[in-house]
Amino acid sequence: MIERLAIIGVGLIGGSLARALREAGAVRSVVGIGRSLANLDEALSLGICDEVTQDACNGVKGADLVFISVPVCAISAVVAEIAPALASDCIVTDGGSVKEAIVRECEALIPAGCHFVGGHPIAGTEHSGAAASFATLYRGKRCILTPTERTNPAAMAKVEDLWRLTGADVCYMEPGHHDRIFAEISHLPHMAAYALVHAVGTADVEGENVLSFTAGGFRDFTRIASSDPVMWRDIALMNRGALLASIDGFSASLAELRRRIDRGDRAGLTDFFTIAKQFRDGII
Ligand code: NAP
Repeated sequence: MIERLAIIGVGLIGGSLARALREAGAVRSVVGIGRSLANLDEALSLGICDEVTQDACNGVKGADLVFISVPVCAISAVVAEIAPALASDCIVTDGGSVKEAIVRECEALIPAGCHFVGGHPIAGTEHSGAAASFATLYRGKRCILTPTERTNPAAMAKVEDLWRLTGADVCYMEPGHHDRIFAEISHLPHMAAYALVHAVGTADVEGENVLSFTAGGFRDFTRIASSDPVMWRDIALMNRGALLASIDGFSASLAELRRRIDRGDRAGLTDFFTIAKQFRDGII
């Protein structure tokens, strides 16, 4: 049982965690912390939180667990701000989509007697804010924890229990390894979706509004380009090295495809699409 859970950033990820833990009967009280009163009031009226505040230090006072779910570039600044107000033995964990820099910075900022555990739930939608959250978001999904040699084992076990109570399967990864994998399978697809919509949205085809002709395929492929721009700006910048390598790989793949189209290489195109189809069909 968590006596007092503080959620900093009561949006899709933080709001859904609070809802899931409430449903599991695992938390006695939830305090929501954020910048805008409108979102906090929404969180209160939806029953996600018992109380809300814009003052992070006041909000975390007496909390046994603090979950930080703000955009990745703001996470360590939040830890720096709340550090003096944390109760002894408090566990601070996060849901940020990038791990190496966050874990390094937060481990350095966490005061003695408190514990930081890096985490990343592999679940989400393109919607933001408290109103977008729901209790079943994590059910049957993975949550990755990224411990280091500095991670307290008891704190890690508690964070693992918490994610299991939401219905998530927990696994572990080294933070840098996490960032290289997610550059490929999450961050690159978002960049590709944004770039594709950008290119098509600004394409000039005899003055037509080409986006008015879009159908299922375009909509399926580009759904994630509706995700929050600030969140994805932060992820792109914070995972810059791994993401640039992924973008280079993708650019090479696109250039190869272009070459085969340009040459009228029927066999080469069939091969290219067959290999990609096999990979896609193999995803379970
Ligand atoms: P969200 O719905 O936009 O929620 C973020 C919350 O943080 C908002 O309630 C916002 O409220 C608050 N916030 C924004 N900037 C802040 C700042 N500088 N300082 C303090 N509070 C701030 O976003 P989300 O989708 O829940 O994402 C939250 C975190 O989860 C991010 O780190 C993201 O990388 C990670 N994540 C997202 C997904 C996904 O698919 N969405 C999946 C896994 C992990 P106010 O603006 O009112 O303060």
